Amino acid sequence: MNENENVTNTQSSELSKSNKELADLQKKQSDQKRRTGQEMLKKYFVPRNNREIFRILPPKTGKKVIEEAFFHVITTNAAGKKLKHGTIIYCPAHNDPRVKKLDKNGQIVLDDKNLPVMIPAPCPLCKKAEELLKTQDPSLKGVSKEKSLTLTDAQKVIYEKNKKIFLESNGWQAKKFYIVRGIDKGVPRDGVKFWRFKHSFQNTGTLNTLLPALYDFNAINQTDYTNVENGTDLSISTVETISNNKIKYRAIVGISARGKSPLSDDIVVIRDWLNDDITWREVFQPKKAPNITPYQFLEMVVAGNNPYWDDTDSNNKHWVFPNNPELEALANTRTRNLDADNEDFEYASDVVDEDYSYVPVNVSQVNTPVSNQSNAPISNAETSEQPSTENADLHVIENEESQEGTGNEFNDLPF
Ligand SMILES: [Zn+2]
Repeated sequence: MNENENVTNTQSSELSKSNKELADLQKKQSDQKRRTGQEMLKKYFVPRNNREIFRILPPKTGKKVIEEAFFHVITTNAAGKKLKHGTIIYCPAHNDPRVKKLDKNGQIVLDDKNLPVMIPAPCPLCKKAEELLKTQDPSLKGVSKEKSLTLTDAQKVIYEKNKKIFLESNGWQAKKFYIVRGIDKGVPRDGVKFWRFKHSFQNTGTLNTLLPALYDFNAINQTDYTNVENGTDLSISTVETISNNKIKYRAIVGISARGKSPLSDDIVVIRDWLNDDITWREVFQPKKAPNITPYQFLEMVVAGNNPYWDDTDSNNKHWVFPNNPELEALANTRTRNLDADNEDFEYASDVVDEDYSYVPVNVSQVNTPVSNQSNAPISNAETSEQPSTENADLHVIENEESQEGTGNEFNDLPF
């Protein structure tokens, strides 16, 4: 390598470093513009009309077009002292980076090469599922359906009990979802949205309808379905239907490619969409409530005490912390700018460590949603101040994904 090349390399590395710093600052600025609940809801793509047109965007560098993520789907406390079924909750164990394993004294556990042993981030819901499974009678674990027919009456009682425990445990386990980034062509002004749908063990889910349409488009047109000039819009047909447990929801009955077309006719709009760096993690965030960590929130979910924002009385919107009057009182007291513990506490840029990879979830920063008006949640669409009908709609439709295969889903498992 001669001297000139060296100079050129140094310059280009400096330029890329400088560009990154500018981009980071730009991003930080836009991040600081907090999204309201209403704005956050616009980032969800939920097919709710008879026909929807959706355009999948090309993947960001290093990302997949169809990403996989894990969420728990469970019943939680909700506004008006009601129970909400099918609440979708972020799972830290399956979605966060691994953390260092600690022993009983809080010391890092090392392997035989003296490296820290890495384990999934703690998740109280996953733990609950695991603990339930441990209560199964070991004498009859893993008995196949066929074999179960030959059991004695006494064994059958144990077998049924084990099966019940298995189903209960499964209810607490994290479920795989697919997430696709794209544009709702019905409301293009909303910009980049995320379409999240659940994996189906019976191969009857949204992905099973979507993939053939994408394969066919690629094969017939010899071009990638996300291509900006020659990709395709997707036409999604839905019908209103009623689940076994009498919940109305919209089911996707067909997805087809509409044929080659540009992403948009407006080059400026295309540029904005392609440059948008928003990720699903900013949209499907861990559940939060004032003064507790996301980990504590999950612990409360397991205990049946999850906090929620009650907006049923428009003159008295407030946080409810079931069985926890102290936290409830604290949550409903304005603390903005007085409390150094909240997430707005900023540090000088030279003390912020950018590597968050090994921060255990249970010591993560308290995320306190605050706004100028009150302590109302503003960054979480699922607990946002929406007209109740719209919110209910969103939940009912998302329930569709949690309806799939309940009960039947386990037909092929050995009991
Ligand atoms: Zn979990």
